[in-house]
Amino acid sequence: MAVTSMKSARGRGEPVAPAPAFSPDDIRGDFPILQTTAHGKRLAYLDNAATSQKPQAVIAAMTRYYNSQNANIHRGVYQLSMEATAAYEAARERVRQFINATDSREIVFVRGATEAINLVATSWGGANVRSGDEIILSTLEHHSNIVPWQMLAKRAGAVLRVIPINDAGELCLDEYEKLLNPRTRLVAITHVSNALGTITPVRRMVRMAHAAGALALVDGAQSVPHLPIDVQDIDCDFFVFSGHKICGPTGIGVLYGRQAILQAMPPYQGGGDMIETVTFDKTTYAAAPQRFEAGTPNISGALGLAAALDYVSGIGMDRLAGYEHQLLLYAQEKLSRIKGLKIVGTAAEKAAVISFVLSYAHPHDVGTILDGQGVAIRTGHHCCQPVMDRYGIPATARASLAFYNTREDVDQLVLGLETVKEVFG
Ligand code: PLP
Repeated sequence: MAVTSMKSARGRGEPVAPAPAFSPDDIRGDFPILQTTAHGKRLAYLDNAATSQKPQAVIAAMTRYYNSQNANIHRGVYQLSMEATAAYEAARERVRQFINATDSREIVFVRGATEAINLVATSWGGANVRSGDEIILSTLEHHSNIVPWQMLAKRAGAVLRVIPINDAGELCLDEYEKLLNPRTRLVAITHVSNALGTITPVRRMVRMAHAAGALALVDGAQSVPHLPIDVQDIDCDFFVFSGHKICGPTGIGVLYGRQAILQAMPPYQGGGDMIETVTFDKTTYAAAPQRFEAGTPNISGALGLAAALDYVSGIGMDRLAGYEHQLLLYAQEKLSRIKGLKIVGTAAEKAAVISFVLSYAHPHDVGTILDGQGVAIRTGHHCCQPVMDRYGIPATARASLAFYNTREDVDQLVLGLETVKEVFG
């Protein structure tokens, strides 16, 4: 990769040169899939909110593991196993650095954001949420941050409260304030909406939750890939994300939990590697994070995730976010010129997600025609049916950008939409 971060000079009293502008042309060659075609056309991959593409460095890290490091971890006394254990624990430390947690014991490896939320709802929720307690969510939430709480609420007799959004897709903070009360046990909110792109004011919302005596969980599935994250600064109690959305492999993700809270939580699943001692009468459990990692984990996934975090850090999350924002402005300007196209979600603070509807074509037809043009976008409710209900629509077409996207990708989308207009308009 041609781009390097200038951050290394910081803190050593050396002058910090301004970071050179980021250009995706320097790194697109790192992504094998971006060199492929779809229906014989140049691939314009604009479904990054669903999953990101993987650079060669991530693919190589996983191949290296299977070629020369593969062994089970935390149990072998032989060299290979000890090396695999060290690599897995180094990956945990890499995640800690990336989100600025205070201690690597606050990092639990899970399958993804969905499993992380289920873990908290089952373990922490089971131990702490009682009949009549309240959990606050928002209209913006992905189903992954709704259904586990609904299941908990049903088991515990608790009540879900929902923060509404305005027409732009921003959370109504005055309504949030009114929902907080002494019965509120937890606030679980997304940091970036996958359906609309809204960036929510999580720092402020966490502070408000704490002032009401509640804990706060932040769903970072869509923020970690696009914004620099500092969990100490956000001051949340839990933070979750998925590796596959930040250039890492599928099947690996992270639950960050404040240490004192994680250590007090009961196990989520039982099995090997999460115990201290087992007899048929009684089991004592390992400390966190091992307590929450029953069974053989996704070792190659953790190594792939660490390689992905190294990769995006090499560019610099600030530069990457700045570039994506410029590309978002370019895309929104181009799309807003298309007659009959309405952008859904116009928050002042927005990540590079553009949901839209066309007055003359169903989103699924839009997606199919664009596919024929080599343009991959997502159509549907984006696992956010309450957002669709809020706008009274069944679905949107969604283009979601990443740092390896270019103006050429956006222009290909716009050209494809002209074909849609020819067919349906
Ligand atoms: N939360 C948000 C905001 C998401 O966008 C997604 C996936 O799209 C998830 C949670 C669930 O992520 P995963 O399916 O990787 O567990």
